[in-house]
Amino acid sequence: MRWSRFYIPTLKEAPADAEVVSHKLLTRAGMIRKLTSGIYTYMPLGLRSITKASAIVREEMDKAGANEVSMPMVQPADLWQESGRWDFYGKELLRLKDRHNRDYCLGPTHEEVITDIVRGEVRSYRQLPMNLYQIQTKFRDEVRPRFGLMRGREFIMKDAYSFDKDQEGLDESYRAMYEAYNAIFTRMGLKYRPVEADSGSIGGSFSHEFMVLAETGEDTIVVCDSCSYAANVERAEIFCTGDECDMLDTPMEEISTPNVRTIEEVSSFLDAPAAAFIKTLLFDADGEPVAALVRGDRELNDVKLKNLLNADTLEMATPEQVREWTGAPVGFAGPVKLNVKRIFADNELRLATDWIVGANKADAHIKHVSLKRDVELSGFADLRVITENDVCPKCGKEISLTKGIEVGHVFKLGTKYSESLGCTFLDENGKDKVMLMGCYGIGVSRVVASCIEQNHDENGICFPPPIAPFEALVVNLDIKSDEVNDKVDEIYTFLKEQGIDVLVDDRKERPGVKFKDADLIGVPMQIVVGGRGLKNGILEAKDRRTGEKTELPVEGFAEAFKEWKTKVYAGWNID
Ligand code: ATP
Ligand code: MG
Repeated sequence: MRWSRFYIPTLKEAPADAEVVSHKLLTRAGMIRKLTSGIYTYMPLGLRSITKASAIVREEMDKAGANEVSMPMVQPADLWQESGRWDFYGKELLRLKDRHNRDYCLGPTHEEVITDIVRGEVRSYRQLPMNLYQIQTKFRDEVRPRFGLMRGREFIMKDAYSFDKDQEGLDESYRAMYEAYNAIFTRMGLKYRPVEADSGSIGGSFSHEFMVLAETGEDTIVVCDSCSYAANVERAEIFCTGDECDMLDTPMEEISTPNVRTIEEVSSFLDAPAAAFIKTLLFDADGEPVAALVRGDRELNDVKLKNLLNADTLEMATPEQVREWTGAPVGFAGPVKLNVKRIFADNELRLATDWIVGANKADAHIKHVSLKRDVELSGFADLRVITENDVCPKCGKEISLTKGIEVGHVFKLGTKYSESLGCTFLDENGKDKVMLMGCYGIGVSRVVASCIEQNHDENGICFPPPIAPFEALVVNLDIKSDEVNDKVDEIYTFLKEQGIDVLVDDRKERPGVKFKDADLIGVPMQIVVGGRGLKNGILEAKDRRTGEKTELPVEGFAEAFKEWKTKVYAGWNID
């Protein structure tokens, strides 16, 4: 491929709305162009990376026994009504009407469609297990589309769905996908980690997210330094040990706290540490009031609360609801005489007593509160967000927190969709049974963005070879010289014969421009051919990742190149 014939519209400046480095570099490298918010065109160079990532996904899915299909993107509303998600899915579902005024949506995911196919086709246990997948464009009308390909509205996803006759079958299908995902992300040259993830109200260890480790990740993950435990903070359980403490003789005492509302304000006003307070957080859970109590210096994990309540929706109480339930303006809620039936306290609050809480009254707090004596609790539960000072819930040793980007998700659905959509089969005894399903997603376009978040420097992208748009770039420094042109052609042919994907920079540009663009687009192996080098019998090769330059001899180039390539690939842990 010749650069002069291949459209790579590189830019000096990043777009004004680009916040993260992958968005900036994808645009500057001419890989994507924005059409409108969260919707992008994959330009020739960008599409090559996406195609390479897709090919790896496809190979590993096929190897794992899944069959590729391609489902429609436009889906009829009645299927979504049947599964119950039409009302539940919210505004991320882009709904539309056809000329007959019938409702449709653009597929944000395909559980309904795939289940409809399988229920219409598969009748016998002999046809199971079955795993169908596609690599296709999804649409989700995200509240805040941002970060370029990282959180688009239109994006490419690989989604697979497994169907099994029993739990052992599902476990096996899940394990096969888990392993395929490990193979996929390893082959792509990414540093990643599978972590236990929240599975909503289904609960249990039914879901893993695959996280690319990058400081700019939106997710925080807990990693144990001693055992294999890794989990999304949303899910990470807290190991709470210690003796209960609920004795308190001192009676409650109301104190005046004019205009101090937040924990920091009250804590400095009363000169007491934040840990001496209880934070009372009020929620509307499926239309019912709920209070959650955590220590003043802690953060509530609302995913844990939602799972505990088994709620479909959980929303912070509005100021009007706060007023109604506490009788006070926002900022003074407390658990004593609170007009809320369900009050849950974080486990840790069991270990101490003599708390300071809001008085459910403007400008007042209460001192010397005992949860046991003064509050009607519904119970204690693990409700707070884990911190670096907590210990591993599996082995009790130290943990650390890192940032990650979710690139894949494997999930045991069980009978959630097969039940509502009536996806059944006849078992060995001729009895009708509901199939067990799993679903497995990979954000293919997000993979390319997160790969850049993980691999870049101040000059541009450093692509790992397997998903780089090209593996090698031959830079022609003197397109007017026959000698240089001949050598470039010779090297191009040689690299092609080696099965390497090559781009030749044959543009009429200054060397400086070529070098800058080469670094920007991040092709992992650069080979520079110039008149002066040829005179000295050498070609300069640069490893984009390390920046290390190596002189390869013109005589015996083939052997020297192979050796160098092995070194470059070894740096990516790829052979
Ligand atoms: P997130 O929590 O990031 O919103 P999700 O959990 O809703 O993602 P899934 O339904 O699990 O996403 O989709 C499977 C995969 O699709 C995700 O692991 C992610 O890699 C990718 N993905 C999801 N939403 C987007 C998006 N808006 N843009 C790009 N990729 C996405
Ligand atoms: Mg997910």
